[in-house]
Amino acid sequence: MALVPSLARLLLDAVAPLRCAGCDSVSSTAICAACVERVGEQGGLSPLGLGWGTAHAAFAFEAEVREILHGGKFQGNRAGLRHIAQLAARRLELPHRPPPDAIAAVPLGAGRRRQRGYNQAEIVAAVFATVVGRPMLGGLVRTRETAPQSSRGEEARQANVAGAFAWRGPELRGAALWLVDDVLTTGATLGAAASVLRDAGAQQVDALVIARVP
Ligand SMILES: [Zn+2]
Repeated sequence: MALVPSLARLLLDAVAPLRCAGCDSVSSTAICAACVERVGEQGGLSPLGLGWGTAHAAFAFEAEVREILHGGKFQGNRAGLRHIAQLAARRLELPHRPPPDAIAAVPLGAGRRRQRGYNQAEIVAAVFATVVGRPMLGGLVRTRETAPQSSRGEEARQANVAGAFAWRGPELRGAALWLVDDVLTTGATLGAAASVLRDAGAQQVDALVIARVP
């Protein structure tokens, strides 16, 4: 009976100590105080011009930040993802920026989303949307799965994601949007998604990410 294992899981979750997403030490918060402090000590990153817009990254993709994002993507640690998104929102001073009309997350393909159970970029985008009080934008979809980008050069990355996104929503009519992802490497994925939003009528698309590969 399915109830038994899920009940056991609930009990286990209740008694197992929560561990920090950054350093795996026992912690009462998703990211422990020491990791919050270390992450906060990272040097600031300047905005990165991407041709179609500007990318703002809160952190460098290294040390604790890399651990937290890895856990959020591959180990189901959504609490760690939400916590780092809140730290990123503070670091990027989101409440003091001109707010966008809406916030879109870089989508996963339907298959990968089913497999993972959630889209990590959407979790981050939802935190940002709450902080600035703007709606999430649905309608941007990934029409085909793409092979992992990590081992590719810049040109191969662009070819890999070309035509991977589509807009399935109403015309965007001059909207200013934030496009959110967890990690920015070369910007090829964000660029492909942004061009679809611009083709749908968005006037300005800027990228906001938790971390950038230095
Ligand atoms: Zn920690």
